[in-house]
Amino acid sequence: MIHRQRLSSGAAGIGMTSRGTRDRLVQRLRDHGIRDERVLGAIMNVPRHEFVDEALATRAYEDTALPIGQSQTISQPYIVARMTEALLDGGTPSKVLEVGTGSGYQAAVLAQLVKEVYTVERIKELLRSSRQLFHRLQVYNVRTRHADGHLGWPSQAPFDGIIVTAAARTVPDELVEQLAVGGNLVMPLERGGEQRLLSIRRTEEGRETTDLGAVVFVPMLNGLA
Ligand code: SAH
Repeated sequence: MIHRQRLSSGAAGIGMTSRGTRDRLVQRLRDHGIRDERVLGAIMNVPRHEFVDEALATRAYEDTALPIGQSQTISQPYIVARMTEALLDGGTPSKVLEVGTGSGYQAAVLAQLVKEVYTVERIKELLRSSRQLFHRLQVYNVRTRHADGHLGWPSQAPFDGIIVTAAARTVPDELVEQLAVGGNLVMPLERGGEQRLLSIRRTEEGRETTDLGAVVFVPMLNGLA
């Protein structure tokens, strides 16, 4: 089931240009091996330029991470696509938790594909601007919370999928416990001086882990900011 909504785009004059540049971005993701048409469609549909500072808007459809203030970054589109694809692998989840709202871009992409998105962020200022953006873009199926993502969102558990967009040193038990059987937890993990993107499926017996390759994320930090 795809929950595609019409997203209004605020920036006047950028519309036509960004459609073309978004097309090129989607083509690039395809060339780099993203196969899930649902994910490519969602990337096509979400105006990434709205999630970065105006001064960076012209670079929003480059396949690169960009600063969003507070020493944080909006993830590279390829990584957003790869993580979303991994999350959806094995069935479309209906209720998803994201740890690390940041700009709100990954949550807005997920909101196109699943029924309910819950996202937590430890930096209040980022949460404030992403909330405003969801409202302005009429993304109504994302719920946000100012919290330490290590703890998940217990009152809303279980989730059919969990995505973590900051690198942790260990897989938080709380997150695995809040994952429904059959669901995927997609997260970067620090391992031997580098970060690996892992997809951890919760099974009846325990966990099955797939290594999806090397990545670079900002660190997952403790407590609220
Ligand atoms: N998904 C974001 C990427 C943001 S970068 C996007 O699409 O823009 C990672 C984010 O994780 C940062 O905003 C950082 O503040 C947040 N973060 C780091 N540790 C966290 C924690 N323990 N709980 C919640 N958020 C955390």
